[in-house]
Amino acid sequence: MIKTYTLPQGNATSPDVNMYWDTECKILFDCGPDEIESFLMFKNLFEMDGNSIGTIKAIVITHHHIDHLGGLKYFPKSIPVILNKNVLHFQNVNWNLIQGSERVIGSLIDTEDIKNKVLRRIVNEYDASNSLYDRKIITADSTSQEKVTVGPWTFVSTMGHSSSDLIAYNTLTGIAITGDIILPKIFFNAIIELDTDLQNLTSFRNEFYDEMDYILELNPKSLYIGHGEPLDYKRLTSSVNNTIKRMHRTERKITKAISDSKNINLTEMIEKIFKTFIPYDYFLPFSEVTSIYLDNKHDLHTN
Ligand SMILES: [Zn+2]
Repeated sequence: MIKTYTLPQGNATSPDVNMYWDTECKILFDCGPDEIESFLMFKNLFEMDGNSIGTIKAIVITHHHIDHLGGLKYFPKSIPVILNKNVLHFQNVNWNLIQGSERVIGSLIDTEDIKNKVLRRIVNEYDASNSLYDRKIITADSTSQEKVTVGPWTFVSTMGHSSSDLIAYNTLTGIAITGDIILPKIFFNAIIELDTDLQNLTSFRNEFYDEMDYILELNPKSLYIGHGEPLDYKRLTSSVNNTIKRMHRTERKITKAISDSKNINLTEMIEKIFKTFIPYDYFLPFSEVTSIYLDNKHDLHTN
């Protein structure tokens, strides 16, 4: 059986995040947000259900974003961690990398305030605590869609929502756990990230389409997602169809705006396309527009 623990994040605008506990296999999926309060809340609920942290046999990381990985530092080092190898890129904040991304964002956005907002969000996706250090790691490489099997669970490394996605599928129950790849109503799924080798911004927009296909092909009975209630196959397909339609619509708008004007002002473009969403969060529209923009122009390397 899968037991869900839903935890608040430290700020009002971020949605509650799910952790899942496989009561038979004693595997924990994701480890909650960065804040100690979230971990203590989880620990309390977990113990009230008759469990103890010591019984956890393995922790699975669905992707490197801090609302899913941030809590790892509070778990004992003795628990092995199953993850996409690329999560390791997002350990150890390196000041050169932050400066690299500041240069790239600075070349795209002319407003200091917005630039700082976006930069802060990108930097916050790093796990500054280096929580994977000195842990037993079971890893798969996403370039080859490599698989890892533990009991009834198969773990496949993919890219799309982030460069470090891990799709978990239980062959006995037909349950899949996929982090933030599929989130109904939240249509900003292909998140821009800092390429730590190239000091450039990248997205995995094309890979994201493949990732959605892959999940549909898995044909799960139910899909347990990072934020919100599980989806049955019917709700999964309608969520995928809506996401694809919306992504194509934005791609058409942005590609047209790029071909219409000689001097592209990215800030204006973002505001024009996502007017009503901007006050809520600037980073997600930025991610959306920039990922399409980068597909059209590949010359954004800094030096
Ligand atoms: Zn999330």
